[in-house]
Amino acid sequence: MIVYCATSNPGKLREFQLAAPDFDVRQLPVKTDPPEEHGSDFEENAVAKAEYYGRLNDGYLFADDSGLEVDALGGAPGVYSARYAGPDATDAANNSLLLTRLKGVEKRSARFVCVIALVKNGKLVQTFRGAVEGRILDGPRGTGGFGYDPLFYHEPFGCTFGEAPIAEKMKVSHRAQALERMFTYLRRTAST
Ligand code: IMP
Repeated sequence: MIVYCATSNPGKLREFQLAAPDFDVRQLPVKTDPPEEHGSDFEENAVAKAEYYGRLNDGYLFADDSGLEVDALGGAPGVYSARYAGPDATDAANNSLLLTRLKGVEKRSARFVCVIALVKNGKLVQTFRGAVEGRILDGPRGTGGFGYDPLFYHEPFGCTFGEAPIAEKMKVSHRAQALERMFTYLRRTAST
């Protein structure tokens, strides 16, 4: 089954395509500017994105919204994760700001959250959520992954997501969990 995904983030695309070898996950062929994110939570943003791109493309299409919630920062950067340090902030700038905000903070628990919204012919079908717990180190470790991965220490791995092979991250990540829920739904739908 072909399922289109709406992302321009190569890190996310790689994870989307690794998640379900029995599906043909394709990047949306239409190039257009993404809608601005105005939602106050991941669900709202994911649905808005999927409905926006769904209008341009027939069939199944999904979009995700994801980010990092840090408990000591009241859930920040949350929906602002990609632009924490400013509108076109690099991963390095976002990571650096996060470390500044957490200077001297002992409680460093955090989680990555991902919500995927699935549409069919532009109409919302369902949303799927995943989350993974970790803590923020006081400096980066590893060069793998993207975004906040080098700062995100996952206890069961004994290392950061930036140090873990992508195949290991994909067994536990917030995105992998949400994708698994969506692909389970699609497999069930296809077989009925
Ligand atoms: P989105 O494209 O609006 O969903 O923004 C996602 C942002 O959250 C990314 O640019 C990263 O900063 C952060 N993020 C989400 N998922 C991950 C992940 O798996 N690893 C590291 N950072 C992530």
